[in-house]
Amino acid sequence: MLDIPKAQITRWLPELQQMEALFKRHADLLEVKQEALISAAEHRLPLYSATMKGYTPGRPTVLMTAGIHGVERIGSEVLLAYMTTLLSKSTWDPLYQSLLRSVNLVFMPLMNPGGMYFNTRANPNGVDLMRNASIRAETPPPMLYGGQRLSRRIPWYCGQAGAPMEAENLALEAVVKRLSHESPFMLSVDCHSGFGFRDRLWFPYAYRKRPIAIIDKILALKLLFDKTYPNHHYVIEPQSRSYITHGDLWDYLYKCHKNTHSSLFIPLTLEMGSWMWVRKRPLQIFSAGGLFNPIAPHRRARVLRRHLLFFDFLCSAAAAYEHWLPGKNEQSTLTAAAKSIWYSD
Ligand SMILES: [Zn+2]
Repeated sequence: MLDIPKAQITRWLPELQQMEALFKRHADLLEVKQEALISAAEHRLPLYSATMKGYTPGRPTVLMTAGIHGVERIGSEVLLAYMTTLLSKSTWDPLYQSLLRSVNLVFMPLMNPGGMYFNTRANPNGVDLMRNASIRAETPPPMLYGGQRLSRRIPWYCGQAGAPMEAENLALEAVVKRLSHESPFMLSVDCHSGFGFRDRLWFPYAYRKRPIAIIDKILALKLLFDKTYPNHHYVIEPQSRSYITHGDLWDYLYKCHKNTHSSLFIPLTLEMGSWMWVRKRPLQIFSAGGLFNPIAPHRRARVLRRHLLFFDFLCSAAAAYEHWLPGKNEQSTLTAAAKSIWYSD
């Protein structure tokens, strides 16, 4: 399946080996599927999904993804760390065993294996997968990093106008469609790093500043999180408050879902505040990936345990979605509150 010499993978893509070892160690607990084979120069790399065994259509679903930008390796590591905890707990912790009977969990920890192999943000075709969907910003985005069609040699390349999405994105789209079809409620979280001093949880849209229609449900989820973990450290806001982009994949997947399903899908992005790591260790900007990943071992360990509670919260919130989703009489109040919190400026 893998035609790159093992020594090369060990050196350039250890995350793939770590993930495959985890899959192998827990073969009895995971359903692993190769969703695509990605061309990387003369090689082919697998793009996997892993579903917790016991998947049952009709249950709420949580989809966790990472590694869409190949340089943001910490996202994949954070997700693999969570899977390690979850897989262990599922064998002995009655709370987790009960949770896993009420929610479907699907993981895609290494979405851009070719980009990670070459240590590039883009995929091996030079396309930024998070600028590649067929959705254009409503107002002009920032020059270049909002997405550009000038050249694949410049970062943030959207791909050619009118071309199909890249293979990695088509694979993710197929998984989202499959899950949407079978889930009355779906939450997703996509792990990134490289922006800001704080950990942010973004929700759509990236393509426009106007609020998303389900803003009342998103505020209800935020209030549940605030109430459950009053000391959490996340900034929760629409991505458009940080910047507008062309081609955002989650904007696109959300809209596709909305147009074809009556069920609810809330896609979130975890944007880890990597500038904190650089501020504490400025010289790391000279090391490969130093802008996007914690380098000091103690800091890396801290980041790997920093998001476990939030991921747990997402799973529990999905399992109990009927409990906290606003009823008809609360929707207008929550919508008005959300507009004043997030969209009044
Ligand atoms: Zn990213």
